[in-house]
Amino acid sequence: MQVPLDDYVWSAGVATELVNTTAEVWHGDDHLPDLVALVAFAELHAPDAELPELARRARAADLRAVWALRVTLRDLLDRPERDNLIAGAGELTSVACGATLVADPAHAGRTRWALGLNSGATIRDALALVCGVGVLGVVHTLGEQRFRQCGASTCRGAFIDTTRPGRRRYCMPGLCGNRTNVANHRARRAAARQAGQLTVR
Ligand SMILES: [Zn+2]
Repeated sequence: MQVPLDDYVWSAGVATELVNTTAEVWHGDDHLPDLVALVAFAELHAPDAELPELARRARAADLRAVWALRVTLRDLLDRPERDNLIAGAGELTSVACGATLVADPAHAGRTRWALGLNSGATIRDALALVCGVGVLGVVHTLGEQRFRQCGASTCRGAFIDTTRPGRRRYCMPGLCGNRTNVANHRARRAAARQAGQLTVR
């Protein structure tokens, strides 16, 4: 399997999604509880068949290794100092067996930089490489201020912001953003109601 070095939006996106599968983020309900969920996660985020194939080959020990990777990654996002991010991501990418060039699917005849994995690599190794490349790519291109905690007061998620303006606020914008909007709307309505009652009195 090869991980392209220049697609940090994808690789950092996988890192964000992996970090936010934990029971801590889902209020006790782990979203990566078993090998079936691991395969589904790989299928959802893979650009090709190789990541799902590694997930299908996984055993219980591999799943535990992915859980441990999730913790390592979360520690990185929780302490986003530049040196810490670079050192931590460097460790994650140490599973790579060397740089190479692969065909660019978007441009016929062109190539892109990639890091390869050896044939004995596990799904944990593949995800570690993807996440490590994503972290390095974002530090390099966008800076360490793109590693943040979710802005929703009830959410314990974290994320890597790869948007162009860099103003993303939530780990899961559709979910945490909507929850926050609903909560703010209710708070404003309650405040308006209270203000109205006070005026009447
Ligand atoms: Zn969130």
